[in-house]
Amino acid sequence: MGAGHGPRPRCRMSVRIKVDALTPTIELGLREARHLQVLRLGPGAVLRVFDGQGQEAEATLTELSELGAVLALGAGVQATAETPQPVTLAIALLKGDKLSDVTRAATELGVARIQLLLTRHADVREIGTQKLLRLRRVAEEASKQSRRAVTPELLEPISIADLSWSGTLFLAHPGSRALITDHLNWNAPITVLTGPEGGFSDAEVAQLQERGAVAVTLGPRILRAETAPIALLGAIVATGV
Ligand code: SAM
Repeated sequence: MGAGHGPRPRCRMSVRIKVDALTPTIELGLREARHLQVLRLGPGAVLRVFDGQGQEAEATLTELSELGAVLALGAGVQATAETPQPVTLAIALLKGDKLSDVTRAATELGVARIQLLLTRHADVREIGTQKLLRLRRVAEEASKQSRRAVTPELLEPISIADLSWSGTLFLAHPGSRALITDHLNWNAPITVLTGPEGGFSDAEVAQLQERGAVAVTLGPRILRAETAPIALLGAIVATGV
């Protein structure tokens, strides 16, 4: 075979691999090894690894075969794609596959956590294990694609009454007067909360406000339940660069 046809060492910082932990030696399975072969990388290639919890480092490929690959951990890298404080999206269960689209976009927008919620007017009352796993995969893919070192946690549904938070909780509710910008504080964590297709009940809004939540407007138009979280997150994270 002539020069340039076989796998060769290359510096591929754009290749990012999610690993369980940043240990001195990292073993990869079949799927990742296949991916590296498709990219025609060989021993000596330098790439990036991240653990999904904010740690990122360079790593050198030392072995690659049909069965797996081995990486040697290199220098740590400052993860730069995260918000100044963790942002949590708390969202009511939605119909169909809408939560996949919301999860993908919310991950790109930098959320650290997605807390699913059961609310009074939600038509959907539960989420199956398979669907939850699928949402977690969507979050992992979106986090890789957007070059984040954090994969958002996707937490099983809890009742809205059990939602707890620290810092600011923005509750999007049509007809509210408060503006996000008047209450934004990047010195503490931020939680954003949006409702299901049928909206929040008056009691849900009142109880959250009693606990300190800020009910904010997203403008005079009624947004769909899958659009509202993205509008709210976009308005917030664009100020936190
Ligand atoms: N008829 C419902 C109501 O009045 O609440 C509409 C619900 S809307 C389709 C779904 C969710 O999106 C709402 O619960 C709210 O969280 C958010 N939302 C939609 N438009 C909004 C707006 N203009 N301001 C604030 N929140 C909004």
